[in-house]
Amino acid sequence: MSRIWNFSAGPSTLPLEVLEEAREEFVDYRGAGMSIVEMSHRSRPYEEVHEAALADAKAVFGAPDDVRVLFVQGGATLQFAMVPMNLLRPGLKAGYVDTGVWASKALADAALHGEVETIWSGETEGYRRAPRPDEVRVDEHLRYVHVTSNETIGGVQYHAWPDPGVPMVADMSSDLLSRPIPWERFDLVYGGVQKNLGPAGAAIVFVRESVLETTRRDLAHYLRYDVHADRRSLYNTPPVFTIWMVGKVLRWIRREGGLEAMARRAEEKANLLYGAIDGSGGFYSNPVEPDSRSRMNVVFRLPSPELETRFVAEAEEAGLSGLKGHRSVGGCRASIYNAMPVEGVRALVEFMDDFLRRHG
Ligand SMILES: *Cc1c(COP(=O)(O)O)cnc(C)c1O
Repeated sequence: MSRIWNFSAGPSTLPLEVLEEAREEFVDYRGAGMSIVEMSHRSRPYEEVHEAALADAKAVFGAPDDVRVLFVQGGATLQFAMVPMNLLRPGLKAGYVDTGVWASKALADAALHGEVETIWSGETEGYRRAPRPDEVRVDEHLRYVHVTSNETIGGVQYHAWPDPGVPMVADMSSDLLSRPIPWERFDLVYGGVQKNLGPAGAAIVFVRESVLETTRRDLAHYLRYDVHADRRSLYNTPPVFTIWMVGKVLRWIRREGGLEAMARRAEEKANLLYGAIDGSGGFYSNPVEPDSRSRMNVVFRLPSPELETRFVAEAEEAGLSGLKGHRSVGGCRASIYNAMPVEGVRALVEFMDDFLRRHG
């Protein structure tokens, strides 16, 4: 077997231990004579998998008792709509912080379903940073303030959370599980699971019970948070494979030392990579302000698009995959989620140093 170092932004690398465990159990799930993806989602073995994933998500994320965990299909993208659909109504308004591509998409969809305003935008500065906490202040009464904790494409991450004085809703798709969450500031946290938590197929949503009491009931059933909460994310057929795998990743994180350990590891990996960029005499460059640099998605440019193409191709040959930047911005990007070992980042840094010697 030869596994490469996979720096893809999502779907993305998963812990080898988790993949091996899944392979081991796949064809005949614990003596059931069938796999987990072939049995009824109302069967005993699946219900155990499902309940364990919900409980482990709450425990590993450190969510307080009054927060409910939901698995919803449609990825983070459907949450862009479900959040305003459920939380807003005529007379209620939400504030959005615009830190880049994903925040803008969340805002655009919310604007179709309720009254919204942009309360801070990094657009005129070229999306080079997250706002400082004192820049996200709201005077009027807003139902919530929406933030994107990590801009997966721009490589911009909050390292100091805003405290706007109203509850926050956060899209944490690309840095879920990479650090502890200050739950007291959030009414709702969501993210697609395919970056840091498992294969594609679901979003995980954490929502306060007090919020569930006020969400709209005049929506199609699948779009209602209260329905997913009441039915324990079994209102309809859930993405059973995804949830099974998410459960395994959660238990892997617990074995590895939980969110504190993930945060330390993320910092170590990010420091290695930014160190290589900053120490390259300008050959590699990162446009993000130092205190907003993402520890999950490290974006960098080379002196020319030709060198970037060459870099990505040679890296691929050296067993370092997925380093091409998002098609909308170009350049290079290394996504170093929880499952990327430090050795993978070391291999990338060595390759970058070597490429610099040959082409710098
Ligand atoms: C990937 C991503 C999304 C979109 O997720 P889907 O699950 O593909 O809908 C939204 N927000 C952020 C921050 C992302 O990284």
